[in-house]
Amino acid sequence: MGLQAMLRLIYPPQCLGCDARVTSDFGLCGTCWRDTPFIAGLVCDTCGIPLQGDDIDAVVHCDDCLSIARPWAQGRAAMLYKGNARKMVLQLKHGDRLDLAKPAGAWLLRAAKPLIRSNTLIAPVPLHWFRLFRRRYNQSALLAASLGKLAQRDHCPDLLIRPRWTASQGGRDRHARFENMQDAIRVHPRRGAQVKGRNILLVDDVMTSGATLAAAADACMAAGAAEVSVVVLARVAKDD
Ligand SMILES: [Zn+2]
Ligand SMILES: [Zn+2]
Repeated sequence: MGLQAMLRLIYPPQCLGCDARVTSDFGLCGTCWRDTPFIAGLVCDTCGIPLQGDDIDAVVHCDDCLSIARPWAQGRAAMLYKGNARKMVLQLKHGDRLDLAKPAGAWLLRAAKPLIRSNTLIAPVPLHWFRLFRRRYNQSALLAASLGKLAQRDHCPDLLIRPRWTASQGGRDRHARFENMQDAIRVHPRRGAQVKGRNILLVDDVMTSGATLAAAADACMAAGAAEVSVVVLARVAKDD
C-alpha cells in the first residue's frame, strides 16, 4: 500500500468546510458545495459575473464592463464573494488555511478553461515587497501556482512587480481605486522577453472594481503581450 493510501485510511478525506467525510481529497461535501456560491451558467465575458439568460454560450458583458475600460480580453471568476466563498478567501488571505490553494486551483481551472490557450503563461497579481515581507506569502501566487500545475501551463510567480507602495483599496470609491493603482504594476525587468507575444492569464483572489487587474493587464500589454485574460477566485457583486 502506498503512503497516500495509508494516510487516507488513517485520515479519511474531510470536507474543506465542515467535518463531513468526502470521497475525494481537497473537496467539499454536497452540503458545503451547495452553500458555496460557485458561478455557473451565463457570465459576463469580461469579468465573469453571472448574468440573466439561457444561452450560456452567448458572449455578453455586464454594465460595469461596458462602461469601464478593461485592458484585458476575457475574464472569469470561480465564485461570488459572499457567504462560504468569502470565508474561504479570507482564510487563504490571512494564512489560516493555506491548504485551500490546492482545491481552489481546481475551481479556478473550471472557470478559466475557455481562456487557456496552448501558449498561455499564468502569473499572479503581485504584492508590494513590504506587504509580501509582512505576510510572508502572496495568496494570489499560491493560487496561480496551483492553477498552473493543474492546467499544465507555465507559471511565473514574479512576472509582475509592484515597485510603488499603494495604500489599501478599502474604503475608496471606484474612481479613487483606479487612480490609486495607476502605473503601480510593472513587468519584472528580467521577465520582458517572456511576456512578448504570449497570452497571459492573470490570477487574483478577489476582483472588486477591477482596478488592480487593469494595472496588471496594462503592464503586460505595454511589455508586448499578445493578449491578457484574468481569472479570480471570487468576484464581488455590485449589490454586496
Ligand atoms: Zn462540508
Ligand atoms: Zn463584467
